[in-house]
Formats: sequence, structure tokens, C-alpha cells
Amino acid sequence: MSVACKLCGKDINPHDISSWKEVTGFVGGPKKDSMVLRTDTGSYACTPCIEKAKQGQAPDQDSLFEPAPKVYKQQVDLPDPDEELFA
Ligand SMILES: [Zn+2]
Repeated sequence: MSVACKLCGKDINPHDISSWKEVTGFVGGPKKDSMVLRTDTGSYACTPCIEKAKQGQAPDQDSLFEPAPKVYKQQVDLPDPDEELFA
């Protein structure tokens, strides 16, 4: 059985330990860390998407921690300055 990652659409196995399950619920108290009336939304996400979300990035954005893609300068045909001098 597989489901689509909610963030990137990739097929993931919801039973895989690396899959993330989306839940909703209510939290209370000063630390707001104990959830009650927790409900599964039925959505799952894969670990790469969650890691990107933790870094504050969109799932389809390239990682900020990898080298930037190389930008190739466009070759421009400039007149050769020597040609005019020795013409
Ligand atoms: Zn994903």
C-alpha cells in the first residue's frame, strides 16, 4: 500500500517508519505540548519534505545547504579588438 506525499506527491508507504503522518488536535497549558482529540487527517509526507519544512523551505525549493547550481555565462560575440588595430 502506498499513498502520495502531501507535499511532493511522491509515492510513500504510510507504514514506513520514515513516513510522517499529518494530525490535527487541541493543545493546552503553557507549553502546549500534550495534544487531545488528536485526529489523523489521512495525509502523509516523506522525510525529505519534512526536513525542508523544518528549515523553512518550500518542498519544491532546492536545499539552502547544498552548493548553488552553477551558472554558465552566456558566450557573447564581442569584436576582437586586435582585428581593428592590425587591419
Ligand atoms: Zn514528499
